[in-house]
Amino acid sequence: MLQVGRGAVIFGLALSLALAGPVAAAAAAAAAPPGGGPARPVAIRCGRIIDGVSEEVLAGGTVLIEGERITRVGREVALPGGAEVIDLSDHTCLPGFIDCHTHLTDRPESGGDEADHLRRSAADVAFRSIDNARRTLEAGFTTVRDVGTYHAFTDVALRDAINRGDVVGPRMQVAGFYVTIPGGGGELNSFAPEIRLPEHLRFGVASGPDEIRRVVRQAVRQRVDLIKVIASGAFLALGSVPQAPAFTEEEIRAAVREAGKAGLKVAAHAHDALSIVASARAGVASIDHGTFIDAEAIRAVLKHGTYVVADLISGPCIKEVGREQGWPEEYIRKQEESETIWPESIRKAQRAGVRIAFGTDAAVCPHGANARQFPLMVEWIGMTPMQAIRSATSVAAALMGWEDRVGSLAPGRFADLVAVPADPLRDLRVLASIPFVMKGGRVIKDARPGRTPGNEAAQFCESRSN
Ligand SMILES: [Zn+2]
Repeated sequence: MLQVGRGAVIFGLALSLALAGPVAAAAAAAAAPPGGGPARPVAIRCGRIIDGVSEEVLAGGTVLIEGERITRVGREVALPGGAEVIDLSDHTCLPGFIDCHTHLTDRPESGGDEADHLRRSAADVAFRSIDNARRTLEAGFTTVRDVGTYHAFTDVALRDAINRGDVVGPRMQVAGFYVTIPGGGGELNSFAPEIRLPEHLRFGVASGPDEIRRVVRQAVRQRVDLIKVIASGAFLALGSVPQAPAFTEEEIRAAVREAGKAGLKVAAHAHDALSIVASARAGVASIDHGTFIDAEAIRAVLKHGTYVVADLISGPCIKEVGREQGWPEEYIRKQEESETIWPESIRKAQRAGVRIAFGTDAAVCPHGANARQFPLMVEWIGMTPMQAIRSATSVAAALMGWEDRVGSLAPGRFADLVAVPADPLRDLRVLASIPFVMKGGRVIKDARPGRTPGNEAAQFCESRSN
């Protein structure tokens, strides 16, 4: 969690997440065993195909799926014998979306009271996360980069449960905890100084390169997929100043080098320009938030090939959800103070050619509302609709280092696919209500008119009892 945004009440963020409800039963079908996918080939006939990479839209094409992967995409695809055909010829097919900044083990109602984290066991956090994961997947986000949790390693357990097929959710990369300075944006700061918090709530608190190397090594040992460094102050942390740097460049570099030994990338939470420059120079893969990015910081991220993950939707969420949930006034004040400059800054970065990957900070907004950010990327920062879609498909996949498996409808990729009965290039708001979601060749959700949710769940139960 942690950011800014813009004032207007754009969406009733009391959020119509209800839309996920009717398909809950069908969602059980998501839990395909690893290496699974349907037993016979599946051919999806699409009215239009947006493949996540190309500028062009393919009219009237077929996506052929064998096992959990795509094997052919095109206008003329010969179908193997026994192929099941799914007719989406009045729909636009797109790759399953990717959110590069989520916190699936957190929820908005935990944002107002830090003591809430003390009342929850790891088991409680885990059980509450199950619904977050399902809502995210049913919203069409088949992959997430989950960038930190207060209760260390609960995200690792969630990822593993999804991969085993025990829980319905997106493919996940997880960070395990936040690497943060004492009193920084990844700490719980509201307690009296003589209170010593349990280790699992301050696993990543570190000062100096040696301590940073130590906590990164612990993260690697617990099988995280990336490291999350809180490089600057934060909006959603008491007493923390977003405009102020936290770690030094030397400290961030220590994290990048240690993570690099294990083949892991680093995501840097950074609001202020100095922290953005320091993080880019230190070699992080992404700047998350990027609120006060200026001309020098834009030059730095361009020079070092750093992505920016701009979670624009979290701004309105801090105000709307924050008020609803009784979050501290300090959070809302900090958000209001920067709600004009943030979209302007990111717009300049986008114009300069910075690679912007889609991320929402879900947990600030309710889980499953991720797609509501798409129109903001056009209206606020000047992307074309196709650029906004690519930011959540091929661009996001490249940031994660997963471009060979997700983010495009192409042979060899996982059969992660969504479909909408409209042209999203005309109006991206249609993506906020996706009726058809497939992950790894299995239908997760089919809420098209006339469909009876539940068949997929029955198939899943059959496959699990074998
Ligand atoms: Zn966050």
